[in-house]
Amino acid sequence: MIKKLMKNNTDKSDLIYCNSLTSYSRFKARIVNIGNVPLGGDNPIRIQSMTNIDTMNTIGNVEQAIRMINAGCEYVRITSSNIKEAENLKNIKNELRKRGYNVPLIADVHFNPKAAEIAASIVEKVRINPGNYVDRKENAKLKYTDKEYDYEIEKIKNRITPLIKICKQHNTAIRIGSNHGSLSQRIMNRYGNTPLGMVEAAMEFVCICEELNFYNIVLSMKASNTKTMIQACRLLQNRMIKHGIIYPQHLGVTEAGQGDDARIKSAAGIGALLEDGIGNTIRVSLTEKPELEIPVAKTLINRYSKRINKPVEKRPAQIITSPFSYKRRKTLNIKNTGSKNVPVVIADISDKDKAFFNSEDELKMMFKEIGYNKKNNKWLKNNRACDYLYIGKQKIKFTHPDSLYLIQDNDIFDKSKNNVFPLFQGEEYFRCDKKSDKINFVNITLKNLNDKFINKIKTDPTAVLIFEIQAKDKVRGQRKMFFKLINNNSETPVIIKIKYNELNKKQFQLYSSIDFATLLIDGLGDGIWIKTDKKYDLNFINNTCFKILQATGNRFSQTEYISCPSCGRTLFNIEKTLTEIRKHTHHLKGLKIGIMGCIVNGPGEMNDIDYGYVGSGKNKITLYKKDQIVKKNIDEKYAVDQLINIIKENGDWIDEKI
Ligand code: SF4
Repeated sequence: MIKKLMKNNTDKSDLIYCNSLTSYSRFKARIVNIGNVPLGGDNPIRIQSMTNIDTMNTIGNVEQAIRMINAGCEYVRITSSNIKEAENLKNIKNELRKRGYNVPLIADVHFNPKAAEIAASIVEKVRINPGNYVDRKENAKLKYTDKEYDYEIEKIKNRITPLIKICKQHNTAIRIGSNHGSLSQRIMNRYGNTPLGMVEAAMEFVCICEELNFYNIVLSMKASNTKTMIQACRLLQNRMIKHGIIYPQHLGVTEAGQGDDARIKSAAGIGALLEDGIGNTIRVSLTEKPELEIPVAKTLINRYSKRINKPVEKRPAQIITSPFSYKRRKTLNIKNTGSKNVPVVIADISDKDKAFFNSEDELKMMFKEIGYNKKNNKWLKNNRACDYLYIGKQKIKFTHPDSLYLIQDNDIFDKSKNNVFPLFQGEEYFRCDKKSDKINFVNITLKNLNDKFINKIKTDPTAVLIFEIQAKDKVRGQRKMFFKLINNNSETPVIIKIKYNELNKKQFQLYSSIDFATLLIDGLGDGIWIKTDKKYDLNFINNTCFKILQATGNRFSQTEYISCPSCGRTLFNIEKTLTEIRKHTHHLKGLKIGIMGCIVNGPGEMNDIDYGYVGSGKNKITLYKKDQIVKKNIDEKYAVDQLINIIKENGDWIDEKI
């Protein structure tokens, strides 16, 4: 059915995945009881995380779980890959209860039905992976006839029936969690390694559970690529709307990595869905201590706790025509903006005083913060050198880098100056003669953007709009503006400009990631301009812009790391290893390096990366070039050096410019 839907999506109702694109409206999912912490319905969005030490270490798990709970974690997941580990969940649970902690526990099983069945009689929820719970790679065929396919579904039913029976007896919930990195060969043969394949894999299990009268189900669609993850979750929601039962969704960007990059990537993926009212529980997965995930998750969901939730009786037709696959809005190519150009980044120093603009030292320092460094009288730029600098009514007398274009208010714009371009306010653009022949920026607000304005400006081959949003609900304000352009068939490029007031640094970073990602993921926006009322340093704001563009797959300015948060299956220190690998390889712009704790998701993820570092036994590492093994089971001590050698041998290494 979904296949038909994807092929023939001209009917806009087939594209519906949320209650509304223009007002905040949370989906009411079915309530699933997980111990004493219910999920779905009007319950708050729940926070969860996972311990990352050996499941046989009872006290270690208990103490780590307590640190997580004290930080605000509402469900604690523990890996249970075999029977022994599943049985040890009892000891962990008893010890936690003895110490007064009643938090529901979740067994993370993936592919071992026996372990799942044992765990289901002990803990409150069991996570299984439809990609490998029944289907085995070694038995996979290249092609399945419909009859063979149906036979495999029957096999799933037989395999899952005992688990469902136990879950019913113990009131245990199940999460059916598709991972982009571990889809079965059977699903991939039919649907590809795609969001559709992820949804289809989970829905097969859902239909079987329903046939068995079991509805205590939570679903998840995880991927390390934010676009894939968002598209899969939207498609799942669309599928559930048609199916008639909305199960709660667990959201997470898997293998997001560590530090700011991982926080921004998680905010982009999770936040873009929360914005559209999708998601009932979230996990921010970081390659760091699990308790450090909780404040990030809290900051994300706090944004929605006071949002006015508008119930929508009748869902409007979609204006975004490709919510399940990426399609950038078609725009004109104006200088380096729009069309196939990567989204540009604009830095703003218009609020600096005259003394700042007169100080060569201050200016030099500022240029450094936005990616330009003067050495031997030459300007060098790094991978995060911003494209435009807005200086308002000021002038820069000091020679600035040639490749950095300045934007000045139109009333003081001097046409004779090279690489300086004017900014106009709305209608004033049409009244003014002093314009650039190359590129003119026109600031416009939702209130002033009307059909007459759009149609007048859309034939201008030099005009780039700046959408400035004052409203509290930034995403929907911006969307409304984009929809006006789309409805008028305008191809004028747009810079998204958002100002944030009264946010601390962490909120600023996470909330701006959500807002820009929600728009960029739908192909809206040819550039970004972020402002804040706080005096955050320019370097921090500039880096945030570039990291958002990287997290949404729109512009790459550094190495991309796909790194799992680790769990009881990890047999090496992944956090330390990732830090070490980042230290040596962070400058390899455009390269994707995967660092995975074990072979559960490891090899699957290798399809999508350039080089891989995967745990394959106690302190043993297997190195990959794409999905091909290059070195097997080498000692952890030499593995980082060997990885660098492999990158060098394959011609992908460049020395870092200081
Ligand atoms: S890939 Fe990482 S988080 Fe996933 S199961 Fe393996 S070790 Fe655990």
